Amino acid sequence: MEKVLITGGAGFIGSHLSEYFLQKGYEVYIIDDLSTGSIRNIEHLKSNPKFSYTLDNVLNKSIMLELIDKVDYIIHLAAAVGVKLIVQRPVYTIENNIEATKVVLELASKKMKPVLIASTSEVYGKLDKELFNERDNLVLGSTYNFRWCYAASKIIDEFLAIAYYREKRLPTIVVRFFNTIGPRQTGQYGMVVPRFVRQALRGEPITVYGNGTQRRSFTWVGDVVWAIGKLIHEPKAYGDVINIGHVEDISIIDLAKQIKELTKSKSKIVFVPYEKAYEPGFEDMPRRKPDISKINKLIGYKPTKSLREMLIEIIEYEKRNSEE
Ligand code: UDP
Repeated sequence: MEKVLITGGAGFIGSHLSEYFLQKGYEVYIIDDLSTGSIRNIEHLKSNPKFSYTLDNVLNKSIMLELIDKVDYIIHLAAAVGVKLIVQRPVYTIENNIEATKVVLELASKKMKPVLIASTSEVYGKLDKELFNERDNLVLGSTYNFRWCYAASKIIDEFLAIAYYREKRLPTIVVRFFNTIGPRQTGQYGMVVPRFVRQALRGEPITVYGNGTQRRSFTWVGDVVWAIGKLIHEPKAYGDVINIGHVEDISIIDLAKQIKELTKSKSKIVFVPYEKAYEPGFEDMPRRKPDISKINKLIGYKPTKSLREMLIEIIEYEKRNSEE
């Protein structure tokens, strides 16, 4: 049976991916330093004999080499995530994201093991276009604004992955996630959906940053893990960059209204200026919607749920969890 290593396996996406591969009968190895991941995310997997976890940092090369030796594929999710964390800890973000990817690619190439690297729709920056295509220009703001250091670090990761493919023939795939959501996501690092859902359920003010006209398209975590499972078996994806996202988008103010309605909450919707929410001079992305024609052609990817269906599932999950 196939074996897979997931870095960041105790994170939100990593824990869903672990479940997915275990259900398929894989042996799953994860490594996570629990910086933004949580042992709670994998509690239910720990007794599975096919699951093994290492609590350490990807930068620990001897451990990583041993793990890479054991597996057939590597999925590199470990990274600093969440706009709030990134703005607060830029040194950590830049160093960690670039160094970790460097280690993963360097060690994987010693053993010629295929690697899938997680990138982000954040790399498109302030691109003002209806649909973001993998070949579009990446439009970042100035280096005075730390928001963009996340995108810049992920752009280097992407270049590294493609360079390893072109120069060293290492099979690498880069995927760009578009606002993945689902059960177990934490709002602690800024992510809007879990924040709004918890605020609504507790009757606290729902905090819309800026004027709420910025738009996002949210992707179901189940679709993301399905896509990753297919892509690692698709040699046509090697050396390429691939969007994984949803075709439906919504303004943040409408998202707040929809969550308020679905939770039947009495919460007020309040507007918080960006400089208060993040830092002075903060720039947001006005819109962000993927062109998913490439992934559709490659593996027949199609989003399986509407935004409303996703929100209902997340609300149910949060209700169950707050009762525990
Ligand atoms: N946002 C918001 N209120 C919050 C958290 C986030 O209005 O409490 C906004 C944020 O400014 C952005 C959008 O929601 O415009 C999505 O934010 P998130 O951090 O989830 O992801 P991003 O797309 O910015 O990476």
